[in-house]
Amino acid sequence: MKTIILTSFLIIIVFSIIALAQQITQWAVHDESRPHPPVVTPGKTDNDPPADATVLFDGSNLQAWQSCKDGGDVKWKLQDDYMEVVPKTGDIQTRQGFGSCQLHIEWSTPEVVTESGQKRGNSGVFLMGKYEVQILDSYENVTYADGQAAAVYGQNPPLVNACRKPGQWQTYDIIFHAPQFADDKVIKPGTMTVFHNGVLVQDHWEIKGITYHKIPSHYEPHADKMPLILQDHGNPLRFRNIWIRPLEDEPRTKLN
Ligand code: MG
Repeated sequence: MKTIILTSFLIIIVFSIIALAQQITQWAVHDESRPHPPVVTPGKTDNDPPADATVLFDGSNLQAWQSCKDGGDVKWKLQDDYMEVVPKTGDIQTRQGFGSCQLHIEWSTPEVVTESGQKRGNSGVFLMGKYEVQILDSYENVTYADGQAAAVYGQNPPLVNACRKPGQWQTYDIIFHAPQFADDKVIKPGTMTVFHNGVLVQDHWEIKGITYHKIPSHYEPHADKMPLILQDHGNPLRFRNIWIRPLEDEPRTKLN
């Protein structure tokens, strides 16, 4: 009798644990009823946009972009398959807003080197217009570490310097998760993972706030979707092949 009671008790415990595990993961291991992810046709190469990407620039026109100064047309040069910063015409931004995303962008700094430090091939890509991944010619060009190429500007240097020589095309592949706000406070900081020329340089970095020059970062609440900005820092940088895939985030949850 004792054995039967003990066995029944054990069975109940085992089933309870299984039920709890299923509740936590929602799906049992190898659950045949689990929905499959959508099929996405990848690009011809890993640099080409997959079928579900929003192409922001393919070399043919600048329609997805506008001037940050006045919202008018972009004053940058469009040539062959790239656009080039025309210094002093100002930053440009996407007409569409984005939040969390996967972003691919290619850039090239001037082949003829005339300056050094922060003045050498400086630009930047600002996620949500606020969180800068630094673009700089960091090939044998020393500057402060949190301001070299692939740094989250003013916050975190890249894990390694993966810069190619000036004039060569370079890639950033960025996984960005937007910060979440509630009651004017950040409740979930943003994160940044960056590959520079295929090399991991930011590994799920927890963003400390808006990136500034010489000012410590802090968060200021903003909309869920904001334009992507490319910086005119006075150097004729080139950009090509820019595409983005918006990512879904977990719904906002309040603290407590
Ligand atoms: Mg910059």
